Amino acid sequence: MHHRLEVLVKELREMGLLVGVGSLLSWDQETYMPSGAIGVRSEQSALLASLVHEKMTGDRFSGILSELIESNTDDFSDSEKRLLTEVHRDWKRAICLPTSFVSEYSQLVSHAQHIWQEAREKSDFGLFEPYLEKLVEKSREKAAYIDRQKPAYDVLLDTYEPGMTTAYLTPLFAILREGLVDILNRIKPSELTLPDRVFPVEKQWEYGVWFLTQMGFDFSRGRQDKSTHPFTTQFHPHDVRITTRLDANHVMDGFSSTVHEGGHALYEQGLDPAWFGTPLGEAMSLGIHESQSRMWENQIAKSASFWKGQYGRFQALFPDALSDINWETFYKTVNRVKPSLIRVDADEVTYNLHILIRYELEIALMDGTLKVSDLPAAWNQKYEDYLGICPPDASQGVLQDVHWSCGLFGYFPTYTLGNLYAAQFFEKMKEEIVDLDGCISRADFAPITAWLRKNIHGVGRAKTPQELVKDVTGKSLSQEAFIRYLLGKYLG
Ligand code: ZN
Repeated sequence: MHHRLEVLVKELREMGLLVGVGSLLSWDQETYMPSGAIGVRSEQSALLASLVHEKMTGDRFSGILSELIESNTDDFSDSEKRLLTEVHRDWKRAICLPTSFVSEYSQLVSHAQHIWQEAREKSDFGLFEPYLEKLVEKSREKAAYIDRQKPAYDVLLDTYEPGMTTAYLTPLFAILREGLVDILNRIKPSELTLPDRVFPVEKQWEYGVWFLTQMGFDFSRGRQDKSTHPFTTQFHPHDVRITTRLDANHVMDGFSSTVHEGGHALYEQGLDPAWFGTPLGEAMSLGIHESQSRMWENQIAKSASFWKGQYGRFQALFPDALSDINWETFYKTVNRVKPSLIRVDADEVTYNLHILIRYELEIALMDGTLKVSDLPAAWNQKYEDYLGICPPDASQGVLQDVHWSCGLFGYFPTYTLGNLYAAQFFEKMKEEIVDLDGCISRADFAPITAWLRKNIHGVGRAKTPQELVKDVTGKSLSQEAFIRYLLGKYLG
């Protein structure tokens, strides 16, 4: 490796270590930190974040990078060139924001989140409205700092899904919507639910840990804990943490969340440690990340093959709750399709309609065609149009998601992209892994994990998501595989 590049990689590794320490503080804050420590913890976290920012934008790092960018890179390998391009992208995004803007923005977000919580509890959009107005305005400003030439929404979208544009996404989502509405109209609405029964949480934990182990989650390089909102975080590929939330009355909530976070975690454990801190050792995009969690959660852990083969083990853990329920009834209950108000509780068929609603609304907010004061009415109208239901109040409607209060515009589409990528990858996997259904049925996931490691996890940011999809599946990203998957599962 070129000497200057080695120096750059060493600097990046140090930043990666600092970022990891920050993530460790946040993980602790969400899991074990005593509540009285919050003040000093915020100070610690802010200090670390500013140290990383200073290191990235400081003269030393900027000098090393500029010199490399301007030098002759003909003798660089493809991955070294890619590394340089990606670091340059990150650096430009870090350096273009004035420090005063960054601190103003982070204060706004922290206030807005606080107010959003209160507004949601009281179901009072009016409380949150002025903050949302400011967040929209500041997000437009932020986008302009990054790239004045592009529409603000495209700049924000590209932050989470590199290379993705509204010009590509809008027509794709329109076809997807047609397909989803068609499937929804053809499925008989189901009222199936599990009877009110108790599923001891220790047993739920045991089943989740068993599943994680089968997935290949390495407990010597990671752990699972409990938190109010399940999440995955990593300090290094050798230290990946997930959390789950268990409720004795809702066994699938906890199991699905364990599997979902397990999918994210497997991706993080599969990144190349040799490139730690650099873009080549980092997850490619939020959409690709979500494809990993959703594939494990839906295509695998909610499949007929899995429950047919593994229901016995599950039933044996919960004899009091499940002795009179057979696997087919359980499977149908788990996969019940019914339009509902809350995104995070939605089934696989309706889930993406929730996302399309948010996508259309946030584009309109960002380009100014929708005023923040008109947002609740627009939200309710879209729920009526797309799902045939109307939220009775703001907390079950426009105030339900935390994202906008954190200034996360352009983030929602990555959830749907994750589902589309997952279906496309899974279809390819089915062609390449002999007897995939049998493996899933036996909970023999080793071939699946090996396939994901080889094709996706180890790539880091050496490709864009679009390139990865094309290289792995031979086809460009589309809604087709996902629609085929839903048709096969729900109407096959
Ligand atoms: Zn996720």
